[in-house]
Amino acid sequence: MDCIFCKIASKEIPSEKVYEDNQIVAFNDLDPQAPVHVLIIPKKHIQSADQITDDDKEVIGKIFVVASKIAKELGLENGYRIVNNCGEDSGQTVQHLHFHLMGGRKMHWPAG
Ligand code: 5GP
Ligand code: ZN
Repeated sequence: MDCIFCKIASKEIPSEKVYEDNQIVAFNDLDPQAPVHVLIIPKKHIQSADQITDDDKEVIGKIFVVASKIAKELGLENGYRIVNNCGEDSGQTVQHLHFHLMGGRKMHWPAG
């Protein structure tokens, strides 16, 4: 499958990994929008949050546990943001489910 994040998960394309287990990989965003900007993905190809099924409940839950662990490791004690863009109107550009973990600066809300 021609999916850039599947290729990152299988190490076909290099990335700066910050976390990996059998189901999940997390790596630095290529175009960071904050001092810390990590993408957390399931290794399984899921197109978007809208395609999550009952089979994925465990890995989705685990992604949030991993996010908290990475945030602690990277010193985000003042807080952070977890973002998922889902579908065209949200601006999703990579069609493999991913969660942005961003921190290290004050965030604005609502996001544009
Ligand atoms: P989206 O806009 O779909 O929510 O986020 C996609 C993110 O993936 C963007 O922040 C973009 O910078 C990042 N990205 C796209 N291609 C690559 C890549 O090849 N490597 C890495 N590390 N990040 C990528
Ligand atoms: Zn994929």
